[in-house]
Amino acid sequence: MNDRTPEQPAEIVARLRATFRSGRTRPVEWRVTQLRRLRDMLTEHGSDLAEALHADLGKSTTEAFRTEIDFTVREIDHTLDHLDAWLRPERAPVPAHLGEDATAWTQYDPLGVVLVIAPWNYPVQLLLTPMLGALAAGNAVVVKPSELAPAASAAMARLLPRYLDTSAVAVVEGAIPETTALLTERFDHIFYTGNGTVGRVVMRAAAEHLTPVTLELGGKSPAFVDRGPDLAVVADRLARGKFLNAGQTCVAPDYVLTDPETARALEPEFVRAVEALFGAEPQRSADFGRIVNERHFDRLSGLLDSGRAVTGGATDRSARYIAPTVLADVDPAAPVMREEIFGPLLPIVTVAGLDDAIDFINDRDKPLALYVFTDSAATRERLAAETSSGGLGFGLPLAHLTVSDLPFGGVGESGMGSYHGRYSIETFSHRKAVLDKPLG
Ligand code: NAD
Repeated sequence: MNDRTPEQPAEIVARLRATFRSGRTRPVEWRVTQLRRLRDMLTEHGSDLAEALHADLGKSTTEAFRTEIDFTVREIDHTLDHLDAWLRPERAPVPAHLGEDATAWTQYDPLGVVLVIAPWNYPVQLLLTPMLGALAAGNAVVVKPSELAPAASAAMARLLPRYLDTSAVAVVEGAIPETTALLTERFDHIFYTGNGTVGRVVMRAAAEHLTPVTLELGGKSPAFVDRGPDLAVVADRLARGKFLNAGQTCVAPDYVLTDPETARALEPEFVRAVEALFGAEPQRSADFGRIVNERHFDRLSGLLDSGRAVTGGATDRSARYIAPTVLADVDPAAPVMREEIFGPLLPIVTVAGLDDAIDFINDRDKPLALYVFTDSAATRERLAAETSSGGLGFGLPLAHLTVSDLPFGGVGESGMGSYHGRYSIETFSHRKAVLDKPLG
């Protein structure tokens, strides 16, 4: 039995800070080694992680690999391929008054000790992707997995110390008390993924130390469907994006915004799309996930009568199952339209046309994503220019976040800051301005 008292947050941060101060995490070789070891962990323990994700969220093995394990491996490979280029100092032109022999450039400095707080819905990807960005930028990192995905949290706590340099990486498991204790410490950056309420708690705590934050939050991401496109394709893509991970995806299309005629025409297409994806009895489909816990199950069940179920509507509390559900005739003031759904319910809300849709979007919080299904170039341009959202997807939900060279993040209520690929280096570094004027 191990009767040592567990290391306290202050001790962990002090230990990691000493490592950072020693210069250990700075060399690119160290960073590359950590990323390679993380890759080894994911390939050697992919099936353990998939099992944990199944236990927490009923994720199928295919989904676990596609959206979490392989996703993270791709991000590692992309970073390993480009890290040297991303870190290269950038020359800046020098004004004439400094003389011809003066030079200027920017260099990326690691920040120090970074805290990553992760949510439960993609508990592997959303913990490891920010962490690997922070390591690639040369930082020490404390990661805090979500207590609401306990199997994944335990797997992270067990595996990460076996593969990574424990003098620079620490895993702290726990719930609100543990996170609160961590947040009293001084970090050099805090990266939080989750909801806006806790985002505010994090930002308040960070303000005490003037610590910069990245907040990856959520919100109601609309899907605008124009008259004209092939609605079978639209329904299929929306259903795939919405019902992945049983709708518990931060960039899931939250609701459909369309004109009344298109709304009616979409209904049978959604029925067909859902059946094609999950069969006549989605509860028996291995590809359809479960709601994370009973609290969320009850919350979502309470939203079901916000409209007429075109498909779905069934629930099973003991299995935390809610059928993939499409709701029509939804009033914009209905409960399902008042908060981010974060579950397998897709309401269809009607608007008169494009102007109305743009107003509808701009009257609400800036979403994490906006999806647009249209054949019209003018409509694309208007939505791109006249609305603001973290990301914008034409024709395909979710996929923009798989492009490593695009920044992933929100705006306004959907968050601040971004990451992925080189944007993680930007986030987890200080871009230092350097001027060199020879003494001669
Ligand atoms: P969660 O409840 O797991 O919380 C996230 C983290 O915050 C956990 O580590 C938790 O321990 C910690 N936490 C919770 N309450 C706290 C408190 N009072 N003080 C300090 N720490 C606390 O996750 P969640 O918020 O339910 O996740 C769902 C939300 O996250 C949705 O709004 C979703 O859109 C958003 N999300 C955003 C992204 C993104 O990348 N932008 C990704 C996934 C989820």
